[in-house]
Parts: sequence; structure tokens; C-alpha cells
Amino acid sequence: MSKLPLVGTTIFTVMSKLANENGAINLSQGFPNFPVDEKLTSILKAISGEAIHQYLPMAGYEPLMEKIANTIFTSYHRNINIASELLITAGATQGIFTTIQAFVSFEQEVIILDPSYDCYAPAVVLAGGKPIHISLNDDFSIDWGKIENAFSSKTAMIIINNPHNPSGTVLSLKDIEQLEFLLEKFPKVLLLSDEVYEYITFEEKHISANTRNKLKDKTIIVSSFGKTFHITGWKIGYLVAPSHLMIEIKKVHQFLVFCVNSVAQVALSKYMDLVDVQKLGEFYQDKRDLFRNLMKSSKFDLLKSEGSYFQVASYDSISKESDLDFTKRLVIEHKVATIPMSVFNVDNKDKHLIRFCYAKDDETLIKAAEKLCKI
Ligand code: GLN
Repeated sequence: MSKLPLVGTTIFTVMSKLANENGAINLSQGFPNFPVDEKLTSILKAISGEAIHQYLPMAGYEPLMEKIANTIFTSYHRNINIASELLITAGATQGIFTTIQAFVSFEQEVIILDPSYDCYAPAVVLAGGKPIHISLNDDFSIDWGKIENAFSSKTAMIIINNPHNPSGTVLSLKDIEQLEFLLEKFPKVLLLSDEVYEYITFEEKHISANTRNKLKDKTIIVSSFGKTFHITGWKIGYLVAPSHLMIEIKKVHQFLVFCVNSVAQVALSKYMDLVDVQKLGEFYQDKRDLFRNLMKSSKFDLLKSEGSYFQVASYDSISKESDLDFTKRLVIEHKVATIPMSVFNVDNKDKHLIRFCYAKDDETLIKAAEKLCKI
């Protein structure tokens, strides 16, 4: 019997495959198509002959952990203890799965805000828990009253994603305060804060749980080098959590992966001396602005994109098809692959919205917009 009867192949795999089969420009799955920084590839070449190919300590390579702690201090003025509050993970996905395994027990509930990233709910189900999906408002803002009503004595955790995939929004100070208020009212509930796009913000920086004294003691924060250094295929990231929670997380981690890829950890520990993560927002803001400008003459109605590398758009004035049908037709007839937003809702609610990924070189964005403006 399947433990995940409702799960099929992810939309990212489906759409990327469809893009390849149809020779389409792929703005669907979220990954950069431009070359990785030469400084990083040079480091990789230089270190490959060194003695870096065996197991590392379970929680991570210390020099890398030190660099991460420095970056967290620079970004958020939070001092973390690398021995007890930091864990290197095989991508954010493993960090999320490990955290959920560590803290969600049989029949406990986890609050998930829809549209939601696809790996949360299956991890809850595999832990024996129950995902409780609450829909965001039409503009992707949060109805905190609705969230509070969903809390119960069974609630173990709430997952937030800030900046948000797929909507590209960031939470306001008011949202964070509401969250703090709610978690004070339900002191046993943990917060899993997925901040993988933490350095990809534009006019307003996102408010990290790292900066909130009221949250630190109950929050596990997820980061991903895949997003921050344009290396999604490396599958490496990290978790920050207070030591009393990290003890439990490490118990799962040591039997799930034990330790993460040694070559990647050593390379990144050296690379972190050479890059400034604070510049990433500017880099993607240029891409966002280019794409939005190019799309001005199209019939798509672009919503705001405050963070992440995603742009959501309504195609209501082009077609009344379902978003699944529309995105399929877009790949086959117009040669541009995108993601239908309904797949991020547990009830598949379709609001005629699609998601573009603009983590692409300028030429790709120009060519894609040219095609999209003809529709
Ligand atoms: N996070 C990426 C996205 O949202 C996809 C990752 C994946 O393919 N699993 O597009």
C-alpha cells in the first residue's frame, strides 16, 4: 500500500520535461540557466586533488560553519553557536524533512499556508502527521484569524516560507508580529521558517526569524546554498535552531545522511570568503525589472514580485482555460514553459495564475518575453 497515494511526479519535473520535448524556453522549474561563478569552479578544480573526499563531522565542516555564522551575524546580528545551533544539510529539502521527522508525531497537525512549496505536506504525512492547509488571501496576504482558528491542542508546527515561493511576496512586520502573538498563545507550537530566498529581496528586505527574539527559541530556520550561490544541483544548505531543538534534529540527521557532501562543503567554505551575499538582491532585481519591462506590452497581468526569483501573472484576459491546460498549450504552441499555480493548492484551486522563473540570462528572458507578448 502506498504511504503517499496522492503524490505523483512533481510539476517541476513534468514541466521541465515538457519544455525539453517541445524545444521550449524553460521558465518553469526554479533554477538559474547562467554559468556558475568562475571563482567557485576554480576552487573546485584546485581542491579536487586534496584529501577532502572522506566523511566529515556529522553536523558539518567547521570552517564552513564558521563562515555561515559570520554571514548570519552580518545579515541578522544574531550570534549562533556553531557547535549546538547549526547543521549543514543536503539542501533545504533534507533540512525540512529532518525537522518534520524530529518533531511531528502520529496524528499531530502541521499548519501549511497554501499555495505552498511541494515538499512540506508529504514530509508531514510520512511522519504520521496531518497537514492542515490554510489558503492565503487572493493577494497572497495572510488571514491570521483563519490561521488561529486552525490551531488546536494537536498542532505541533506551523511552516512559513518567506520570501515566498510561488507568489514572490514577503511577510510584513505586522504579519511577523501576528505570528509571534499566535505562538505566544500556543507555546508548544514550533515554527519552521523556510527562508531559502533570504538574500533575494528587492525594495524591502524580508524580516528573518533570525532577528526576532520572541521566535528564536522555538524556530528552525532553513537556508539553501542552491539559491544563494546559483548551484541548485549541489543540494546543500543549512538549518539554524536553538540547541534544545537541534539535539533532536541531529538525531534524525545522523541516520538520514550522517554528513553532507565533503567536496561541496570545503569548496563553499573557501568561496564564502570571496562573495558578498548582500549583492544577490540587486542581481535578481535587475532580472525582475528586465522581465517585467519586457512583459509590459503583453496581455498578462503581472502581480508584485517582492522576493524570490518568481513572477506570478494572471492570464485571465487571454484565456479562460484551466491553468493546467493553459500552461500545456503555452509550452506546445508558444514554446514557453511555466508553472500552473493551482498545483501549489491542496484543493487545486485554480485562479488562472501562472508562475514564471526569471533566474535566467537576459537573452533567455528577452526571447521568452518576445514569444509571450505575441499571445
Ligand atoms: N524549488 C524549485 C521551484 O520551485 C524546484 C525544485 C525542484 O525541482 N524540486 O521551481
